[in-house]
Amino acid sequence: MHYSQLFGKTSKTVSADEESVNAQYLIRGGFVNKQMAGVYNYLPLGLRTLKKIQNIIREEMTAIGGNEILMPTLTQEESYKTTGRDTMDVLFHTEGPGGAKYVLNPTHEEVVTPLVQKYTFSYNDLPLAVFQIQNKYRNEPRAKSGILRGREFNMKDLYSFHASEESLNEFYEIAKKAYHKVYARLGLGDITVLTYASGGAFSRYSHEFQTLCEVGEDTIYFCEKCRIGINKEIIADQTSCPECGNADLVEKNGIEVGNIFKLMARFSSAFGFKYLDAEGKEQPVEMGCYGIGPSRIMGTLVEVFHDNKGMKWPESVAPFKYHLLALGKEDETFVEAEKIYKNLISKGVEVLYDDRRGVTAGEKFADADLIGLPIRLVVSKKTLAEDSVELKRRDKADASLVKISDLL
Ligand code: ATP
Ligand code: MG
Repeated sequence: MHYSQLFGKTSKTVSADEESVNAQYLIRGGFVNKQMAGVYNYLPLGLRTLKKIQNIIREEMTAIGGNEILMPTLTQEESYKTTGRDTMDVLFHTEGPGGAKYVLNPTHEEVVTPLVQKYTFSYNDLPLAVFQIQNKYRNEPRAKSGILRGREFNMKDLYSFHASEESLNEFYEIAKKAYHKVYARLGLGDITVLTYASGGAFSRYSHEFQTLCEVGEDTIYFCEKCRIGINKEIIADQTSCPECGNADLVEKNGIEVGNIFKLMARFSSAFGFKYLDAEGKEQPVEMGCYGIGPSRIMGTLVEVFHDNKGMKWPESVAPFKYHLLALGKEDETFVEAEKIYKNLISKGVEVLYDDRRGVTAGEKFADADLIGLPIRLVVSKKTLAEDSVELKRRDKADASLVKISDLL
């Protein structure tokens, strides 16, 4: 991509009401645009990053047998009456012709349960897992943490359906492992911990994945031996590590980046969703749900990986791998830089090429630091005199000259 043609450029300022680091840098870097509190437009750099996060999640969900589907945003309010969730405070309500009542889905149990019910008859059809990556709507009272807490936000939600509680328990453990893989691939593995969460009897029905980070809204009691957390919301039930009994827990802040639940028959029984067992008898379907927030993760990555100059994207999710800068006034430099750019992209390498003329080296360096791609390549009269480019990693201080022939 030629930077001169990119929609969404860097800017030096952000509106004063933007307090969070993630929103500050993502807006200044030209990744997102804030439309109103909790609602953001994703510009090309931001969308590329979001898609990479989504693809890592998609691959890991597919690997555990998830079938990708896409469910609607709009749902008849009736379905929420069926489960008793029509009075949920975060629900956005809307009306259609003739006074028909709808809601914008904050999550999709009310859609997926009757959907899967239509295709499931007997134990032969189970277990089954479906997932989607889609936007959710929640009328969050506080939407002040940039893309960490949106009123419209992106979620991957997977739902599993089982003939028995044992089958659900088995899949739940498989899903836990898949989640750990996702965070490892996102560069958050070391600081994202399984956390015992609220949602029924202690520890059995729900776990969160919390990324330890100072700006996190959640308070976690952390066992340094097992690297396991307990959410403060349930600490009254459990004051020591559930794995090793260690009572010397450390208080930390966390960002909830994932949440998995054993729903059991909570939703299937509301919709009368049963299956026939081997004896032809009706049995309740057991369900699990597994949520993860790609947009919140994008904000988390900025909160975790930045310095006072800008963002520092892990290679697995960076919108481009290389940031190629052409410096100086000489036409020759731009001709050579263009050749290097074309050569790299012909090999399938992702390059953002800062081809702007009349912009100082200082400004180009500042923009490269702000955007935070993993590797910066500089082409100038000086480097070309050595048949070289200067290579610097965003997370290292030192730069080195690399022969163009070696680079290519
Ligand atoms: P929170 O406690 O932070 O409000 P939640 O427990 O209500 O979140 P879940 O229903 O468990 O959220 O949603 C699954 C995942 O979706 C969360 O783990 C998080 O990664 C993401 N998520 C939830 N709410 C938001 C939001 N308002 N903005 C961005 N991502 C969100
Ligand atoms: Mg949650």
